[in-house]
Amino acid sequence: MTDPVALITGGAEGIGRTTAELFAARGYRVVIADLSGAADAADALGPEHEGHSLDVTDEDAVRTLLAGLDRVDVLVNNAGIGDSHLPTLEQEIAHFRRVLDVHLAGAFLVARETARRMIGQGGGAIVNLSSIAGVVGLPRRNAYGAAKAGIAMMTRSLACEWAEAGVRVNAVAPGYAGTKLVRKLVDAGRIDLAAIERRVPMGRLVEPAEIAEAIWFLASPAASAITGVTLSVDGGWAAF
Ligand code: NAD
Repeated sequence: MTDPVALITGGAEGIGRTTAELFAARGYRVVIADLSGAADAADALGPEHEGHSLDVTDEDAVRTLLAGLDRVDVLVNNAGIGDSHLPTLEQEIAHFRRVLDVHLAGAFLVARETARRMIGQGGGAIVNLSSIAGVVGLPRRNAYGAAKAGIAMMTRSLACEWAEAGVRVNAVAPGYAGTKLVRKLVDAGRIDLAAIERRVPMGRLVEPAEIAEAIWFLASPAASAITGVTLSVDGGWAAF
């Protein structure tokens, strides 16, 4: 028996990297696919892990990556970029399109090519990254919120389509975690973390490790009857 394989997009940084570390520590061979830093991040996990440069919006590159893998048991569709957080009246269409492209088209392309492999293997588990911004309405987050709500609905649609083939598809919807994506917005004065902490019932941000544990659960046999759900990991924000 060879170790199961987890493909993690955007796994060189932040939540993806923490998830890669967790899956590697628990017996998976991890394949990190990221715009940059994938090889170094995989090397840091150990020699059995691989890193590949990938833009998830590049259809040919996604096909080529999947063609080079012998199997995939878990896909974590995590690659993502932040919103501009500008007032909507000042937003550029190019940025709006890029946000939807990376999150929605990227998640679709990698899920489609990975599911081809999983269906051929007899099954697998996909976990997509939605967000609190796809669950509640947040000002200036129209593109990102639309993309993340879209991911939640795409998760349900794919789950229904691939259930009989043994491919489960779920999502996590994290609240704010202090990753590079969020730090950039804080440094630019576009997010007030203290206000977010006041808004969250638990009174704090969530940790990447807490999100990784939810991804692990949804990908694991412990969730064998769960498909099509979006699990909030947000300190109670969506409940309030
Ligand atoms: P991050 O910026 O720390 O890491 C994102 C990674 O994705 C980076 O390594 C980046 O290079 C990669 N990436 C970006 N565009 C890519 C592309 N086109 N192709 C391949 N890789 C690409 O961000 P993070 O905070 O760890 O976010 C990870 C995911 O979690 C994202 O989908 C994000 O929207 C979601 N999320 C984050 C938060 C948060 O508060 N940090 C909250 C909810 C959801």
